[in-house]
Amino acid sequence: MLTTTIFPSRYVQGKDARKQLGAELSRFGHRGLMICDPFIYDNTIEDYKTYLEQVDVDIVRFAGECCDTEITRLVDRLQSHNGEFVVGLGGGKTIDTAKAVAHYGNVSVAIVPTLAASDAPCSALSVIYTEDGEFNRYLVLPQNPNLVLVDTQTVADAPTRLLVAGMGDALATWFEAQSCQQSFSTNMTGRLGSMSAYALANLCYDTLIEYGALAKTANFQNVVTPALERVVEANTLLSGLGFESGGLAASHAIHNGLTVLEPTHAYLHGEKVAFGVLASLFLTDKPAETIREVYRFCEQVGLPTTLSAIG
Ligand SMILES: [Zn+2]
Repeated sequence: MLTTTIFPSRYVQGKDARKQLGAELSRFGHRGLMICDPFIYDNTIEDYKTYLEQVDVDIVRFAGECCDTEITRLVDRLQSHNGEFVVGLGGGKTIDTAKAVAHYGNVSVAIVPTLAASDAPCSALSVIYTEDGEFNRYLVLPQNPNLVLVDTQTVADAPTRLLVAGMGDALATWFEAQSCQQSFSTNMTGRLGSMSAYALANLCYDTLIEYGALAKTANFQNVVTPALERVVEANTLLSGLGFESGGLAASHAIHNGLTVLEPTHAYLHGEKVAFGVLASLFLTDKPAETIREVYRFCEQVGLPTTLSAIG
């Protein structure tokens, strides 16, 4: 039986990590394309430009949807600039678009998430939508991002609800990996997970239980603390490695089912995944002590524990 484990090539995290962006990008070449979230483009892009002196980056405002039209437009722009790398600066759709553009343009990709709301940054996967925002396909990429750089001050300045949703997504990682391990089910590569993947998934859970509430308080006060650093790493790196190489199970399946229901559309991915985790505790017959611990955690950080809390 083969096990397979996949990773991004380099993960950089810390307060003011964005100041290292130019130096990090210069490892991939001199010229590149930066795909920028519209809000960041309109408000804080001048700050980022200060840290890009080492490279020649064409900064473009993301049109808002990760669809084939937008990907084609950006691949053309990359090639007309003779770009050697792509940077995705922003949230989920900006990140997914950057990965797809780098793939079709056959260049390196750096992901700079401005939120810790899900485990998408580290993965070798883009979700492609139609121009109207309907699901189109999963684009499974041949490799993970070359660089993921997370500035925890940027995360601390973002709304608390997003960090909490990221904790909901990360809360699923250990339970889903454990289900895959016990049932010899495969991970995102179609092979079995490794000892390393399961250990990282377990660390993800322990980190949330110990530091989740403290990290939420830090985020609310817009301060970077050791607890916030740990939870950002759990939400982004540990959860990303854990889900891709450990595998997915009931929590995400229940989430996918919930998305069909119109009233849940106002709720974030991680909020619905967290509800899936709670259901999965009963499906997998977890000890009462574990169930109590997970409910207590959800109540502490403000993740939904009832159907009415997800619409
Ligand atoms: Zn997820």
